[in-house]
Amino acid sequence: MLRLNEIKLPLDHAETAFVDAILQRLGINSDELIGYTIARRSADARQRGAITLIYSLDVEIRNEAALLQRLQGIPHIVPTPDTSYRFVAHAATSESRRPVVVGTGPCGIFAALVLAQMGFRPIILERGKAVRERTKDTWGLWRNGKLDPESNVQFGEGGAGTFSDGKLYSQIKDPQHYGRKVLNEFIKAGAPPEILYVSKPHIGTFKLVTIVEHMRATIEALGGEFRFGNKVDDIEIEHGRVRGLTVNNGTQIDAQHVVLAIGHSARDTFQMLFDRGVYIEAKPFSIGFRIEHPQSLIDRARYGAHAGNAILGAADYKLVHHCRNGRAVYSFCMCPGGTVVAATSEPGRVVTNGMSQYSRNERNANSGIVVGITPDDYPGDALAGIAFQRHWEERAFELGGHNYNAPAQLVGDFIATRASTQLGTVEPSYKPGVSLGALDSSLPAYAIDAIREALPAFERQIKGYSMHDAILTGVETRTSSPIRIKRNETYQSLNTQGLYPAGEGAGYAGGILSAAVDGIKVAEAVALDMLRGMQAA
Ligand code: FAD
Repeated sequence: MLRLNEIKLPLDHAETAFVDAILQRLGINSDELIGYTIARRSADARQRGAITLIYSLDVEIRNEAALLQRLQGIPHIVPTPDTSYRFVAHAATSESRRPVVVGTGPCGIFAALVLAQMGFRPIILERGKAVRERTKDTWGLWRNGKLDPESNVQFGEGGAGTFSDGKLYSQIKDPQHYGRKVLNEFIKAGAPPEILYVSKPHIGTFKLVTIVEHMRATIEALGGEFRFGNKVDDIEIEHGRVRGLTVNNGTQIDAQHVVLAIGHSARDTFQMLFDRGVYIEAKPFSIGFRIEHPQSLIDRARYGAHAGNAILGAADYKLVHHCRNGRAVYSFCMCPGGTVVAATSEPGRVVTNGMSQYSRNERNANSGIVVGITPDDYPGDALAGIAFQRHWEERAFELGGHNYNAPAQLVGDFIATRASTQLGTVEPSYKPGVSLGALDSSLPAYAIDAIREALPAFERQIKGYSMHDAILTGVETRTSSPIRIKRNETYQSLNTQGLYPAGEGAGYAGGILSAAVDGIKVAEAVALDMLRGMQAA
């Protein structure tokens, strides 16, 4: 197969335009063309009046080798890359040892899936509940202001990304096409096949719930075993090597290979690991607010007269501003046509994030507007970033009224340093609700100053961005892990053999796709180490 890149077609092109473009690019007749599939589609909206779609097509033709020879050196025509996934190992049928995976977020699920597919029958420990029950608890906070600290947006089957926009793209380098394996597995579990070719695929919350259940069934069918309500409370380390785990119900599990995929909110587990001497470092992360605008405003700004076009969908954006005080403010986890969600996992604290459905047809666009910070901003030990996050999350709880309402302010009032007393045209989507006022004391002064400077600057890129009635809701503190559980080239903890810190919580991923990819890499490392152990025995 040949891959033809950079095929540019108008937004309203006919289906037949593909064949015309292929024949023209390759200089062949229609009887030489056997078939084609779309490998990638993106939109170039730099000129709002003339938005184009840019395709990569995989084309099957007769006499491919001869044609390739003839077209050598012509740009944008290459052999289709082989993106198929190959397992690095297979367990012996006599293998009785079982790797343990802690956490069922994208990292843990993919680590467990690949281990199971290789014949290692993982035990999977998850502190929260199975995804359907968890959904009820999560909505319990949003609807009734009741938080279950073990079953919420952060904890439970599917991990942090389950109630999300389900964006499935990342900026990681992926020469071995692990991302393709992730997307293929998601499709097998029920995701729409278009995620393989659209440039910014997303799944949305409801589909993710079903996908997670299908993946669990696949892993179980391959011999994996899920244990929900099993929080890892303690780790046994002997002579620098993990020996076992203790679960909150008192069960002790012998374990020589532990994938630690616990996400960025497992603060109690971070503390336990730190107390047990596992090597941990503080790392930078970001803090800020969620901002909400009418989605129609973003669509118009990005797509002009094409706003609302079905192929383009609800528009997204990506913004960054470098401030006079040396801070960078940027948009984070933008959710077109979505809602702002209550994302705390700890009582007495308020945290925001965003989610959407596959349709992305809610009235508002929301995004994190966050400021990068470093360990210099929260000096102390390796866990000082957690204390810092907790401080501002508690402050948001106070400002919100001690009932999980989030503090909020209109953008116009925030810029004018005036407390908000009344909503305007934008209705905030955060549930259980917002308490209007001033956000100035909800984050450190340098962050407030930076965001105040950035919002009018963003207006230059998106007209209407600093509109008076847009809503800021606070606080966004869990943008990524505040720590890194460092590992070596074999993916094991720097000082604890057999412990494989992985995914977002360990500081090795940011987002669903990169966490899933990290899970696969770690599963491979575990499998290879287990095989080596088998050979040595
Ligand atoms: P997690 O998904 O956090 O999973 C960790 C799991 O470990 C949890 O299930 C937890 O219950 C479990 N656990 C923790 N401690 C223990 C313990 N001691 N014992 C047993 N189990 C434990 N990313 C995107 O790419 N696209 C998006 O659209 C997107 N939207 C998001 C929206 C929201 C509301 C949130 C909160 C996050 C969003 N993210 C998004 C980020 C994404 O969810 C994370 O990057 C990703 O889930 C990280 O995967 P992970 O597997 O490393 O950790």
